[in-house]
Amino acid sequence: MTFEYAPAPESRSVVDIAPAYGLFIDGEFTEAADGRVFKTVSPSTEEVLSEVARAGEADVERAVAAARRAFEGWSALPGSERAKYLFRIARIIQERSRELAVLETLDNGKPIKETRDTDLPLVAAHFFYHAGWADKLEHAGYGHAPRPLGVAAQVIPWNFPLLMLAWKIAPALATGNTVVLKPAETTPLSALFFADVCRQAGLPRGVVNILPGYGDTGAALVAHPGVDKVAFTGSTGVGKEIARTVAGTRKKLTLELGGKGANIVFDDAPVDQAVEGIVSGIFFNQGQVCCAGSRLLVQESVHDEVLDALKRRIATLRLGDPLDKNTDIGAINSAEQLARITALTDQGEAEGAERWTAPCELPSSGYWFAPTVFSGVTQAHTVARDEIFGPVLSVLTFRTPDEAVAKANNTAYGLSAGIWTDKGSRILAMANKLRAGVVWSNTFNKFDPTSPFGGYKESGYGREGGRHGLEAYLDV
Ligand code: NAD
Repeated sequence: MTFEYAPAPESRSVVDIAPAYGLFIDGEFTEAADGRVFKTVSPSTEEVLSEVARAGEADVERAVAAARRAFEGWSALPGSERAKYLFRIARIIQERSRELAVLETLDNGKPIKETRDTDLPLVAAHFFYHAGWADKLEHAGYGHAPRPLGVAAQVIPWNFPLLMLAWKIAPALATGNTVVLKPAETTPLSALFFADVCRQAGLPRGVVNILPGYGDTGAALVAHPGVDKVAFTGSTGVGKEIARTVAGTRKKLTLELGGKGANIVFDDAPVDQAVEGIVSGIFFNQGQVCCAGSRLLVQESVHDEVLDALKRRIATLRLGDPLDKNTDIGAINSAEQLARITALTDQGEAEGAERWTAPCELPSSGYWFAPTVFSGVTQAHTVARDEIFGPVLSVLTFRTPDEAVAKANNTAYGLSAGIWTDKGSRILAMANKLRAGVVWSNTFNKFDPTSPFGGYKESGYGREGGRHGLEAYLDV
């Protein structure tokens, strides 16, 4: 039985959302050259939060030119000076983290518990970590005086708007590059807030430029001849398009794309802990996580026990107002994403997988999807193959470790995997055989700026974070 909780909403008034925002170019907020704007809405209420300038080709031109001008001075600064700015940004983010957490929750729909306790601390940690590298690059293993590349064009998705910005901007600045970043069209607000943080930190003009817009803005940015480096996080389809655009140019490219992570539970795993890991693996951020553990591979002998415990646990998750501190499951980011999740789950049912939905009431406005589990799934099912990017788990079984490896690796992706077992030797043996950029053991969805993150196969190439992540921004 679930206890009744009194509402515990975080105050919305801690953050001022302006009715309109401009582009951030050369240290100033400015309108788009052609005057275009778009609206950003709260996914939990469909309320319009603000109207944001939409960058076009002329604005891309201006922003890349500003970043190019700024590059000369920024890259010539001693690393210890660049570090001061990054430390300052990290501290301002900590100081303003409550504002930022509320803003991110409003614009993205994710629970305040997650923005407050995961996104924001990690954002600050990324800036602190990379600030530490800025004056030690000659010890990073890339030669005695590694040089920056120049202007970095960065395009990010909507699932962790500010955290993806931090993953991109912190290493770029630490290594002496300047940046033009395009946030996702459904979540531009925290990036624009970050522009203000840059001004507060006294960052030289043009070092960071923010261009809100749609896919066409991103396409114009990555194609611009004044760009030296492209970093993209998003869908595999768009990643392939970008790879084609930059092929044959001097631009260095990193791609962080989709995933279909396997969370593998052996019969000697502690069931209650594994259940917590399965839940965090697929319901964290409503499952809109590239490295989500969206395929549960459970050893046949414990299948029924694990599935029963899992359903009991999922039934206790609280879905609702993302600003409520007790909320576990917030809103889906957009109507388009909700439609995609709905279509894929309907297909799962039509193909014969057994669907179970958590008993919860969905709010009447906004974009919502109840936690869902498919059992009796085979490798041929669409729900076992396609990235759903929502709170939907597909359960498969295995008998032997080799079968688990074969099934886990039977995907076009290769971003993440999890192993739940009591045996350390089994963890090491399995991890060696899993074709995934990150393998968690007896935990899931743990992130740290010191640890490189990235994929194999259609999950992309290049690493972000850690010493390895610096390479993407250095001329090596
Ligand atoms: P998306 O690829 O549609 O959009 C991502 C970004 O690219 C947005 O800013 C969008 O405006 C921009 N964009 C769209 N078309 C473009 C084009 N032709 N050229 C340049 N930019 C373009 O992805 P999405 O649906 O917004 O995000 C979800 C996807 O992102 C999922 O597939 C998920 O797995 C992936 N993702 C991966 C990681 C990772 O680290 N590997 C992290 C988060 C999300």
